[in-house]
Amino acid sequence: MTAKRGLNKYVKKKNASIFFVLWTFFTLFSLVLVCIFAFSQDYMLKRSYRENVASDVSRCGRLVQRELYEYEIRGGRDYGAFLYTRASSYDVGVFILRSDGTALFPDADVSYGKQVKKLIEKLEDGSASVAIYEYDGEYVYGSRMTYEGEAVYFYLYKSLDLSESIVADMRTRTFLLSAFVIVLAVAVAGSVSGFLTRPLSEMTEKARRLANGDFDVDFVGESYGSEITALAQTLNYAKDEISRADSLQKDLIANVSHDFKTPLTMIKAYASMIREISGDNPEKRNKHAEVIIDEADRLASLVSDVLDLSKLQSGIDEIKRAEFDLSSYLRGVMDKFGYLTETKGYTFETEIDDGVITFADEAKIGQAIYNLVGNAINYTGEDKRVIVRLKRENGYARFSVTDTGKGIPPEELPGIWDRYYRSRETHKRPVQGTGLGLSIVKTVLEKHGFAFGADSTEGSGSTFFVLFPCRN
Ligand code: ADP
Repeated sequence: MTAKRGLNKYVKKKNASIFFVLWTFFTLFSLVLVCIFAFSQDYMLKRSYRENVASDVSRCGRLVQRELYEYEIRGGRDYGAFLYTRASSYDVGVFILRSDGTALFPDADVSYGKQVKKLIEKLEDGSASVAIYEYDGEYVYGSRMTYEGEAVYFYLYKSLDLSESIVADMRTRTFLLSAFVIVLAVAVAGSVSGFLTRPLSEMTEKARRLANGDFDVDFVGESYGSEITALAQTLNYAKDEISRADSLQKDLIANVSHDFKTPLTMIKAYASMIREISGDNPEKRNKHAEVIIDEADRLASLVSDVLDLSKLQSGIDEIKRAEFDLSSYLRGVMDKFGYLTETKGYTFETEIDDGVITFADEAKIGQAIYNLVGNAINYTGEDKRVIVRLKRENGYARFSVTDTGKGIPPEELPGIWDRYYRSRETHKRPVQGTGLGLSIVKTVLEKHGFAFGADSTEGSGSTFFVLFPCRN
């Protein structure tokens, strides 16, 4: 099955790509912004035009009035011409009106009756001598004056209507600007989305290769921000772990098949020898039969270790805790190894505190202890000494087993607990080992939640220890 077909099984429904989602989001967002900007333009322009007209009218009103006064003092009498020039230079309308609304200056045929009436009202309303207000689409500056004894009105105004050409020009500009912003936003959204999704696509491709068993892939994400970097680092970690598990798995198959094959070959060889050579010689036959029995035992313990470990790790074998006397249990285990003192010259030194009661799965803890003591026997030095202790310390009992062997190099120490790990060195063992012993110890103790570890000094031996919680 190819990785692609295998992967398809996990694809439940096709989602939109992040690139598409980001790009659409950015583009829509900029469209909304542009629309808001365009529609507010009209309103803002009109509003600011109004404000400009208001301030222009009040400024020009004061200015023209003062200039008119100075013109009069200098002896100027052609008020009409004077007002006309002022009006065109300030771009406003200026009249001196009679109270009936006709123009006194400049001489024009206008009828501002309504406007004058409004001005009189405004002037009467306020205490100031000047009125500035909005009336009938115009902004007005007005004040009372006298001319040859008659009450007349200074009337300056400017229209509030914005010229159509200015509005059209502004709309064209807004449209062009909006179009430019949208094109820019689409392009920027595209490149930002591409920048963010590129590492993800690359990682997906590499993860596919990894699924296909290519452990040389390297996930890179350093230049894309901390989240992508963290993802790349995690994937690299996962890759290393998978690759390690894979090579351990291969080692296991090699080890287990080798371990199965050796006793099987021996069994076959000795069985043939019994049939062909030693069948009639009871002494030889018994010796050969013993080898067959030993090798069959080795096979059996290998099979049971593999089974134990897989049952423990798959969770089939539950931990069943109960209180039991660890001290007597440990003495029992040491008694079982007692035969090695007589047959192989081993020395077991034991310092076991009495009556240590712990709460654990007796059978599984027994297996762990058995494996640790068995290893110490296998790996201890020439003096064949093994020291087993169970000592009460604050709130727990420390079990330790020490040997005087070659020790374990520091760089190998963390790996010895791994499933299938086995030192490359071939070793003549009094206790059968399968390369799974410490892995079983680790699984059992981790399931119990007990602290454990190993200290080793190269050349002088190792100490494996477990801290058992105990109630006394
Ligand atoms: P094995 O059947 O090979 O002993 P284990 O899982 O019990 O398998 O141990 C794994 C490896 O750890 C051993 O192959 C050995 O290299 C190392 N080891 C375990 N116990 C000791 C010890 N007491 N002294 C030195 N090396 C040890």
